Amino acid sequence: MGWVSTDNEHEGWAACVAPDGRLSGSSSGEGMLFRGISGRYKRDKMMPDYDVVPDAEIVGWRGQCTCGWQGQMWERVISPADADFQHRRDYVSPEDSAHASLRVEDAIHDEWKAHIGPSEALLGVEAAAREYNQAGHRLDKTVAAAKAAGASWADIGRAVGISRQSAHERWADKQ
Ligand SMILES: [Zn+2]
Repeated sequence: MGWVSTDNEHEGWAACVAPDGRLSGSSSGEGMLFRGISGRYKRDKMMPDYDVVPDAEIVGWRGQCTCGWQGQMWERVISPADADFQHRRDYVSPEDSAHASLRVEDAIHDEWKAHIGPSEALLGVEAAAREYNQAGHRLDKTVAAAKAAGASWADIGRAVGISRQSAHERWADKQ
């Protein structure tokens, strides 16, 4: 139903906001579903832990992520003339389903992408670090093999691109 990060740690969506501030978890034909029983709304038949809030009562939208992140509020206005994208206000007819408009949903998607940006970028660091460590182990093994085969520290230093002394310092006590 939502957007999933590459590492599957984050799933985000554009949630509807109830008058009491709760964020929707789902929707049905009768309205938006909100976890928790306030006593003000009827309960959903399939999910008895959820209130059904009529579409007309939804006051806005905001991004939500399974990690707990929430985006800034997008306010629902009561007339088309009050819609103002720059100020995070949008109009959806009270006759319609209260889902965010495509434009607001796209904006919330962008907010969510910015939210997961750091963890997506860190995946690249993790992959590079893995390769770096593997290459380090391979270097240690090949140096040991070269030494065993009779190469000098000067030879090994030259092959690695470092001084004889640096090669000796790095690998002599690993022999
Ligand atoms: Zn998240």
